[in-house]
Amino acid sequence: MHTRDYQALDRAHYLHPFTDFKSLGEEGSRIIERAEGVYIHDSDGNRILDGMAGLWCVNLGYGREELVAAATEQMHQLPYYNSFFKTAHPPVVRLAEQLVKLAPAHINRVFFTGSGSEANDTALRMVRRYWALKGRPDKQWVISRENAYHGSTVAGVSLGGMAPMHAQGGPLVPKIAHVRQPYWFKEGRLGEGRSQEGSPQDPDAFGRDCAAAIEAKILALGEDQVAAFIAEPVQGAGGAIIPPESYWPAVKEVLEKYEILLVVDEVICGFGRLGEWFGSVHYDLKPDLMPIAKGLSSGYLPIGGVLVGDRVAETLIEEGGEFFHGFTYSGHPVCAAVALKNLELLQSEGVVARVRDDLGPYLAGRWKALEAHPLVGEARSLGLIGALELVDPASGERFDASRGIGTLCRDLCFAGGLVMRSVGDTMIISPPLVITRDEIDELIEKARGALDDTL
Ligand code: PLP
Repeated sequence: MHTRDYQALDRAHYLHPFTDFKSLGEEGSRIIERAEGVYIHDSDGNRILDGMAGLWCVNLGYGREELVAAATEQMHQLPYYNSFFKTAHPPVVRLAEQLVKLAPAHINRVFFTGSGSEANDTALRMVRRYWALKGRPDKQWVISRENAYHGSTVAGVSLGGMAPMHAQGGPLVPKIAHVRQPYWFKEGRLGEGRSQEGSPQDPDAFGRDCAAAIEAKILALGEDQVAAFIAEPVQGAGGAIIPPESYWPAVKEVLEKYEILLVVDEVICGFGRLGEWFGSVHYDLKPDLMPIAKGLSSGYLPIGGVLVGDRVAETLIEEGGEFFHGFTYSGHPVCAAVALKNLELLQSEGVVARVRDDLGPYLAGRWKALEAHPLVGEARSLGLIGALELVDPASGERFDASRGIGTLCRDLCFAGGLVMRSVGDTMIISPPLVITRDEIDELIEKARGALDDTL
């Protein structure tokens, strides 16, 4: 079949996630046929540098035969069995052991799911169950952040703070509240969307204000009513939002003061993205629960889970009886075998330390230099996640949203051989962690080319 045939079938039958179906138009989808290393190849023979690691997940890059072999072997051995009702299998218990070894010391248990959304659903049920078991059933509210992304299931959408998602698809899960995000460039420096309090002039004051907003929300909801705070260490889908240094220490203080559980959504930041095994390690957090997915298998097969800290795990185990929760594919043996091999390779190849010590700092220097481009108001990065904030060179302010400058830049990028994602006028990268310095140079040059073409 040729590209046109695939495109016709695609248009006729396939409902894409997160897509305006009419926008596919006559041109149709780009058909991606294969990939290796950090490059994807389309059906017209173009080779494109994948600056997004798929959807922030292909941490080890494409074409890793070891992962294929792990899947094949496990398929022969035991393609499926569940771990409900007192059974288990070797890959799932070995994966749990490995994850616990990599996680912060107070985390000794794992619950498996099929995705990041299911992991967040699970976390929500666990925090409410925990407080019920502790004899505090009134502690039900979960505080999240505006513009957070925690998934597409009903609980995931509710926990997330994406206004367009909230506007579609019916009532949300009750007792979930949202507070402002620590997005310095947008809400601090540009003061966008700030009907809220104050306008601090420096990022650290802004970070402290955002933590204070959590305390204010706790007091408004009732200090005995709040079960947990959930957040990504660095907000990914919202715009690769790296919080000011002051933010997390101040948040930790607030949560301790009111006995509120901390759920750190590691679905993007986990497995090396920020140069540590978990974003929580980078920010010195001690989460009660850590939802994971994506990089756990480098995206080769769907698998997620929740790393459960001792105080929640012990309560659920000792006082909880049966936890009526689980998925057919919780701890799927083939997915678990691939995840296990993925962790082994990340370790044996020293991938995470290389992001921290070499590639992250290297990218940071090259990326920051893009701030000299007239279209770029801010270039920020941490480890191998980064964002460019596009602004009108004439005013230094945002373009009128109706001009779709971010979308234009993204399309020009793709045409020029680089996948970058746009969130409004924020351009994002999150490349495979095995990218080389030369490939980072190529990424930067292609990004610069797309910025020039956008101008
Ligand atoms: N949490 C975060 C931080 C994410 O970025 C995502 C997906 O992008 C999810 C949860 C949902 O994961 P999944 O798409 O595997 O359900």
